[in-house]
Amino acid sequence: MNENQLRGELARIAKRLDDQGLNRGSSGNLSARHEDGMLITPSGMGAGLTGDDMVFVDAQGKAHGRRKPSSEWLFHRDIFSQRPEFGAVIHTHSVAATALACMRRDIPSFHYMILMAGGDSIRCSGYATFGTQALSDTVLEAMQDRRACLLANHGMIAAGRNLLDAFKLAVEVETLCELYLRTLQSGGPVLLNAEELSDARRQFTELRYGE
Ligand code: 13P
Ligand code: ZN
Repeated sequence: MNENQLRGELARIAKRLDDQGLNRGSSGNLSARHEDGMLITPSGMGAGLTGDDMVFVDAQGKAHGRRKPSSEWLFHRDIFSQRPEFGAVIHTHSVAATALACMRRDIPSFHYMILMAGGDSIRCSGYATFGTQALSDTVLEAMQDRRACLLANHGMIAAGRNLLDAFKLAVEVETLCELYLRTLQSGGPVLLNAEELSDARRQFTELRYGE
């Protein structure tokens, strides 16, 4: 994708997040790796973004554009620099994920689709003020060997090879959080054991699931 196409794709995925109710008002943000930096949504803006609203942040952290970059550009930048496999990062304040994040709970292996996030749990990061390096540091820890995490008292992050990949994972994580909350309200889930999880992992590989 060239720069204009990527800007358009950011606007399209931002709209899909809004349409699905994953982000409301001006909460959440998304980014895509571009050249030696990233393109990221502007700060404090709600629905109706266009490609021209996106801000390029270069390798030195300098912003180029007519708007201010998302206040969370630090964790987007740090995820790209530490995790070369990712081309896109999505952050939401979606209701179920944020409710669990406010309980500061990891999501355990209650459903085999948890494996889509990279392991047998989805971790919840520590708490830190939004937009700070401290938040980015705790996010990177929670994302170790994972493609998604919760952010304590804040929301969630999903990353992927590209924007569509990250979007699908964000929808999946929110769905898992809805399910987990329901099971908690009904006495708590039975967790999958190590053998059941490794069978599911093998099945994903054999089916080349989602490829
Ligand atoms: P921005 O509008 O600056 O991207 O902030 C939204 C948000 O989710 C902060 O954590
Ligand atoms: Zn946020």
